[in-house]
Amino acid sequence: LSLSAPIPSATVSEYDQGTNGTRRANAAIIMLVRNSELGNALSSVKQLEERFNKRFGYPWVFLNEVPFTNEFKEKMSAAISGPVSFGLIPKEHWYQPDWIDEEKAAAGRAEMVANDVVYGGSVSYRNMCRFNSGFFYRHPLVQQYKWYWRVEPGVSFFCDTDYDPFLYMEENDKVYGFTISLYEWPQTVATLWDAVKEFVNENPHYLDPDNALAFLSDDDGGSYNMCHFWSNFEIANMELWRGEAYSKFFEHLESKGGFYYERWGDAPVHSIGAALFARKDQIHFFDDIGYQHPPFRHCPHLPSVRKAKNCSCSSVGNFDYNRDSCLNLWRQVEMS
Ligand code: GDP
Ligand code: MN
Repeated sequence: LSLSAPIPSATVSEYDQGTNGTRRANAAIIMLVRNSELGNALSSVKQLEERFNKRFGYPWVFLNEVPFTNEFKEKMSAAISGPVSFGLIPKEHWYQPDWIDEEKAAAGRAEMVANDVVYGGSVSYRNMCRFNSGFFYRHPLVQQYKWYWRVEPGVSFFCDTDYDPFLYMEENDKVYGFTISLYEWPQTVATLWDAVKEFVNENPHYLDPDNALAFLSDDDGGSYNMCHFWSNFEIANMELWRGEAYSKFFEHLESKGGFYYERWGDAPVHSIGAALFARKDQIHFFDDIGYQHPPFRHCPHLPSVRKAKNCSCSSVGNFDYNRDSCLNLWRQVEMS
């Protein structure tokens, strides 16, 4: 396995000047997307521009493993007032590596299809999960940035974000921000926790002393409780992923082949990385950002916040109160 060395954070400039001359974080809004998803991508982009970015002018970066069509680039550029770039993902960051035993991978997929696991038979979904887990932050168009907001096609933003969440995180020493947390399908990560334990046993010094292991495990690390932050929304510091701990961690997971033999998601992988290698108070729940990725939505808890931020959502259908949400556990861990 040869993975490129972690990128030193010193090469990343701290601040930038915003469109209105105010201080701005070194950040980009990033969307991995297929040409066929143009309509839903435009919908997400228009909402985030209207609710947030028209006031800040952060650059958008679109990534794809095949070239974007002219139609995609033209329509997207027309919807965004600030800088936009379109990047092609290097093949070795996307496709199933040659050393993966395809027979074993195919057997794993067949078993998941038989068990009705979502995307159980999909290789492209696995490519996507592995890319988001270990490669997006190394893309040439992304390397220059420190912070990112991950956006997917077909999501909704229900409230105004009138402050700069990147600067909020920077100033409050946060590294990972989420809106929704939930349980993973156990079959997709059958041996992931074994790999995690192996890594941590061999590298105990990477664990932050004030980590959020209790969010991941109900038995002090013995087993994974399947809780994770839903990574289709993320506002985070890429130094977390580029740093030594997560870089070595990803390399360890990659060596197990679980992105293909099972269907390890970038959501549990990022969540485990953030919860183990950062302090728990560096993880931030963005309660004030109303957000939906079908079928789940988060809406700010307090009516006063919903009013102040002009939210077009209510407490109805808020996943936070669902029994399948891990938010209550997060609240306990955060408080403990
Ligand atoms: P889900 O949210 O887990 O149902 O998965 P999605 O289909 O939404 O995929 C997650 C993200 O990866 C979205 O931003 C998709 O646009 C993107 N994505 C998924 N598969 C591919 C692919 O094969 N190629 C590209 N370029 N993007 C993909
Ligand atoms: Mn999605």
